[in-house]
Formats: sequence, structure tokens, C-alpha cells
Amino acid sequence: MASSTPSPALSPSHRPKEDSERPPRDIGTLYYTDLLPFTVTAAPETREFLARVADLSIEFIRSTFDRNSKILDFHQPEQLKEVLELDIPAKPLNLDQILVDCKDALKYQVKTGHPRFMNQLSCGTEVVSLAGEWLTAAANTNMFTYEIAPVFILMEQVTMKHMRDVIGYKAGDSILAPGGSVSNLYAALAARHKMFPDYKKKGLLALPGELCMFTSLHSHYSLMGAAAAMGLGTDNLIEVPVDEKGRMIPAELDRLIQDAKSKGKVPFMVCATAGTTVMGAFDPLHAVADVCEKYKLWFHVDAAWGGGVLLSKNQRHKMDGVERSNSITWNPHKLMGVLLQCSTVHFQEDGLLISCNQMCADYLFQQDKPYDVNYDTGDKVIQCGRHNDIFKLWLLWRSKGDEGFEKHIDHLFEMTSYMVMRMKQHPDKYELLNDEPECTNVCFWYVPYRLRSMKPGPDRCKLLGEVQPILKGRMMTAGTLMIGYQPLDHHPNFFRNIISSQAVRREDIDFMLEELDRLGYDL
Ligand SMILES: *Cc1c(COP(=O)(O)O)cnc(C)c1O
Repeated sequence: MASSTPSPALSPSHRPKEDSERPPRDIGTLYYTDLLPFTVTAAPETREFLARVADLSIEFIRSTFDRNSKILDFHQPEQLKEVLELDIPAKPLNLDQILVDCKDALKYQVKTGHPRFMNQLSCGTEVVSLAGEWLTAAANTNMFTYEIAPVFILMEQVTMKHMRDVIGYKAGDSILAPGGSVSNLYAALAARHKMFPDYKKKGLLALPGELCMFTSLHSHYSLMGAAAAMGLGTDNLIEVPVDEKGRMIPAELDRLIQDAKSKGKVPFMVCATAGTTVMGAFDPLHAVADVCEKYKLWFHVDAAWGGGVLLSKNQRHKMDGVERSNSITWNPHKLMGVLLQCSTVHFQEDGLLISCNQMCADYLFQQDKPYDVNYDTGDKVIQCGRHNDIFKLWLLWRSKGDEGFEKHIDHLFEMTSYMVMRMKQHPDKYELLNDEPECTNVCFWYVPYRLRSMKPGPDRCKLLGEVQPILKGRMMTAGTLMIGYQPLDHHPNFFRNIISSQAVRREDIDFMLEELDRLGYDL
């Protein structure tokens, strides 16, 4: 950054005597009142206290990446309440206790960045992103106005423009939201606003009939949440059947739109999913776009999970047609590995977000401020305050560049292929639900010894579904592996392994397969 001349008030001769040379007093016996700002001369103690907290954080990161450390030390809630001291005291506790509290909080925390944590769509700890999060906390600002977050607002503009370029939008607008669910809600609100601008003021009476929207049977449940929150009713989120790979069937979408219209309903939006939550399927975007154009419907893409593929030349064809969408949700906290939370939603048309959500609060968004108030983002959202989620994304992207992110995505897919290849070598032990995953979700059943020779059929199916949760319980007790499971449609419980961490290597996949067999063989 450019250097500037120091202001006269801070010139060396006027600076207050630095006490940072002085060694800190013994932190353990002190109280919060012995730190800044309560004691103005407490810079050394404040530094010492924060350095110790930083050390705890660094030690947690070190052990996160240590393959000999456990992922978790599982306790039942009742046991955990006994070992932890959680009560809020009437009197202050000294800093020694506060440091112990910090240590204990991490001690029983699941290490979501561990190379063998495959449980969630957001796994992994990116160190540079963590650095961004630390500084974000120190800056502790609110993203609603340029006035109080000038650097971060500009960062947000540049990064969102970069993401829209990657998507293939020529113009547009974007916002960071607290999670993909809220991003999807923003898209649905904008879609309704575009079609029925009077709704904002007049409410339901501005509508010509019952609105409905369409998404696939395997889409994320947040769409149903949006339908409920927006007053459509969950019955008016119409679920389109999927093919055997979990992809929306466009001909069925067309049929269901006609069907809804014939019943007097008013379709306004279709949501395609790019990377479904369980199977990782990519809906055919061009075919869905064609249907949307035919019926003049808003076309939203929920790429909360799969959006990261856009960064890789090898993978981005899965989202061909995304440039034809009106809006897209893309969570950098999933495939891109940015620390939680970081979710973005992008719009092809500029001006819609503000026109849809603006309420013109005079105390925040004065129009006569001493700068261009178009830089104030606060009136584009249904929140008031907004957390700074941009710095940890921007900093990570600066550190990797587009090239680094392409490698990042390619690594995840390479590990996934390796895992599928290894599982196929032992079809007796691992049964794949989908033997060519489109994303990094690998869905499979572990088959214990006694079921390996059993005839396929409903009985074996039922038993398989019962075995997986027991195996999950054993994983958690052992603390060596974490993989999520769920049923889907007519399928009984199966594991859904997610690779979304740069820490994962071939040796971790090998370990996983052995560990599943060690823990589950006798079930
Ligand atoms: C994870 C996910 C969401 C929800 O995102 P949150 O950030 O958890 O709210 C929405 N859609 C899809 C497809 C997802 O995988």
C-alpha cells in the first residue's frame, strides 16, 4: 500500500512514551481491567494476552493437520456438561481462567480441517483464509456503508466483479449473504420483484394468483424454506423428478409448468442445482434455460456447492449454460475452502437488488454524504448489519491467484477419482450408489462381512441401511474418521463422502478404506 506522510499529531516528538519496551506483568493474575482500554498503559499485557490466544489457535491448527491426532474426542452432551465449566459467573474471572476457557473450547471441538474429516461440504482449513478471518475480527466493522468499511467495500466490489466474469455475466450485481440458504432467498425475492414490482408495497394483493416455483427433487431444502418464508407455501415449490444420476429432467420441468398453469397457478422461477447436496449432480443448465425462455421464467442456479468447478478448465463444462441464468448462488466456503461463512449471490441485471430491498433508512443511508453513496451496500439486503465475509475470500484468492484455485479444484477431483478407483477394486466391501460422481460426493454403502454373501433384495437392503449409522457411531468414538450418512429417495442410509479439503492425500483415502473395514467388518 502507498505510504503517506505522518500527520503532525503523530510525529515522533509528540508521540506518548512507548511502554512496549517494558516486559508484561504476569498475565495469569490479571483481570480484563488490566488490559486495554481499561488500563491505558497496558499495551505489553494486552499483547501478551493476545499472543497467548494466538498460540492456542496456532497449536489447534498444527494438531488439525497432524494425522496422528484425533479428529474429535467425542462426549455425550451430559458428559460434556460435566467436564466443561460453562456457567456465567457473577464476578469477573481472571485472565488465567479465561485462557483455560479458550483452551478447553478447542479441546473438545471437532477438527473440521483434519485430513480425515469428510463429513461436510465445508471441510478444510485454509491458513491464509484464517489469517483474513483473524484480521476481520480485529477490524470489527460492519459492511453496510463505505463510511465505516471503505477498504472492504472496494474489495467486495472487485472480487464480486471477478466472480461475475468467471460465471460469464457481462454486467450485474452481487452480494455476500449469511449462507447459501439466504442467497437462494435473495434470488427468489429478486425474481418475484422483477415480475411483480408492486408486491414490495402492496403485498399479496399485487399478485394475479398463486405463485409457484420449480426445482428438482434433489435440490437443497432452503428452496422450500424460501417458499415458506416468502408466503408461497411449501406446496408451491414444485419438485421436478430427477434421472438416475440425480439430475433434473427438463421434459418433466416443462410438463409440470404446463400442469401448474392449467391449474391457474403463476410460475415465476426455476431453480437448477449445480452440485446437489447429497449426490453432487449437475442439472443440465442449457436445457433448463431453454424451458425458462419458453415460459419467460426467472432462471436461478443454486451452485452453493458446485460453483467452484467454474474455476477449473477441466470441470467447468459441467456448468455450461450458467451464463444464461438470471442469478446464481455460489458458496466460497464449500469447494473453494474459504473459512465459514462465505456465500455469494450474483445477478445478471444490475439495480434489482437495491430496488427490491431498499428501505432508505435515514440514519444510515443519507443521500448527502461526502462520497458517492452508490458505494453503500447496506440497502441492497434484508439485513441491516452485515458481517465482513470478503476479506478471507479476497486474501485467499490473492495468495492462490486464478491458477492456484484451478489447481485447488483439480486436486479435489483427482482425490475423488482415486477414491472411486480404490473402491471399485473391492466391490464386495464398498457398494457405490453412483459409480461416476459428477462432483466430489462419493455415495456408498460399506458392506460388513456377514452381508457380503447375502442375496440382494429388500432384506439385505434394510440391513445395509441399519449398519451405516452404527458404523458412523464407531467412527466418532474412535475419533479417526468422520463421514456423513443419510437415506435418499428409496435408498436406505448410505455414506456420502465429501472431499473439499486441500489436506486430503491418497494416503488418507487408503487409510479411510482400511479404517471402514477395521471398524465395520463385524457389524
Ligand atoms: C450447502 C447448500 C446450500 C445452503 O448453503 P448454506 O450456506 O449452508 O446455507 C444451498 N444449496 C446447496 C445446493 C447446498 O449444497
